[in-house]
Amino acid sequence: MIDRDELECFRGEVRAWLEENCPKSMRSPAREDEDVWGGRRATFPSGDAKSWLERAAAKGFTAPTWPKAYGGAGLSGDEARILEEERVRIGARVPLKSLGIWMLGPVLLRFGTEAQKVQHVTGIARGEIRWCQGYSEPGAGSDLASLSMRAERDGDSYVVNGQKVWTSHADKADWIFCLVRTDAKAPKHEGISFLLIDMATKGVSVKPITLLSGASPFCETFFEDVRVPAENLVGPLNGGWTVAKALLDHERSLISQIRDAAAANEESLESLARRYIGLGAESGILNDPSLRDRITQANMDLLCNKLTMRRSSEARAAGLPPGNETSMFKLYGTELNKRRRELMVLIAGFQGLGWEGDSFSREELTRTRDWLRSRANSIEGGSTEIQLNIIAKRVLGLPD
Ligand SMILES: Cc1cc2nc3c(=O)[nH]c(=O)nc-3n(C[C@H](O)[C@H](O)[C@H](O)COP(=O)(O)OP(=O)(O)OC[C@H]3O[C@@H](n4cnc5c(N)ncnc54)[C@H](O)[C@@H]3O)c2cc1C
Repeated sequence: MIDRDELECFRGEVRAWLEENCPKSMRSPAREDEDVWGGRRATFPSGDAKSWLERAAAKGFTAPTWPKAYGGAGLSGDEARILEEERVRIGARVPLKSLGIWMLGPVLLRFGTEAQKVQHVTGIARGEIRWCQGYSEPGAGSDLASLSMRAERDGDSYVVNGQKVWTSHADKADWIFCLVRTDAKAPKHEGISFLLIDMATKGVSVKPITLLSGASPFCETFFEDVRVPAENLVGPLNGGWTVAKALLDHERSLISQIRDAAAANEESLESLARRYIGLGAESGILNDPSLRDRITQANMDLLCNKLTMRRSSEARAAGLPPGNETSMFKLYGTELNKRRRELMVLIAGFQGLGWEGDSFSREELTRTRDWLRSRANSIEGGSTEIQLNIIAKRVLGLPD
């Protein structure tokens, strides 16, 4: 346990490091198209974004709590929290966005072999390899354990056949972590394995899905006689469900935290209301009592959520992995985020509904997109209804 003085000393060091190493142009919010995802085909919006990633990675700050031996900085939970606070304080961008860091890395550190850690974890921390997630299939979404993509052992390889769907950014990723069926006769949860597949392998193909908005963030991913080295199996053969659930805990925890972090960086609801609606000349307060109530309630709920998450992150700092409580955070955080985004659009009135054009500021256009994107938060990583089922069963212990 590090004492308070040592932590404050660490804060000073981090502050100085950020001051020296974070380029000034990286101290403003990034638009979605300015995010850095790394990978073999990495693109950077500027030279500063590239050097910001390189410096953060060299210091281990892209994955602060991971061991130094695998590209992390070996920080304690408290130190990592301080690093994050200092980053947010100066408005510095996250140097690297990465499913590898958020989801796969922690799972490899827990379940992977030494060879897998050496091969993959450092590359993830440095942003050299971009990963995507191959869980959902056309016949397996909420009921994920019904998945049917097969992997059959043949010599020192598995031969994989089948299809994944809704694979976010599969067209840009280098590797995919997949759930595959390795025993068709076992009960459905007991015949699944967790496999790492290089997207450049012969037989892997990707087809982007175009959404109504015109964007293509998802793909269908096809596997036809894809040969995967047997050493790419993570965890025991047919024991992939445990690995899959551990990864989902990280994913759900991330989805709730991202929204929380976004709220910390955004203009407050009351400031937005002051700007767009104005205060009553005589009362000096927002004249619409119902809107006042909704804003206050959303602010209080955000604060309560933050405190509960802080309690849980302290449990993690003490060495406990995220557990079923991530379902509660995922449920509450995503529903709260939807409520806040809707309020923001409501407060901005007509200016809240801009999609393109000069009549809207960049901030207004982003707000509309963020509102629509928030609708997906309660589906991705397991829908709200599924989180309620998990809470009923595993947290409250209710019967099926
Ligand atoms: C933005 C986004 C990104 C995604 N990225 C990825 C990715 O990278 N990789 C990946 O593998 N997947 C990804 N997904 C897929 C996601 O995991 C699935 O959409 C999700 O698990 C729901 O599955 P489904 O779409 O098949 O819906 P379904 O399972 O068909 O569910 C339809 C509806 O029925 C409800 N429902 C289903 N079963 C029950 C039940 N037992 N009790 C109560 N209600 C139920 C659901 O809550 C939902 O409202 C992504 C999804 C989104 C929205």
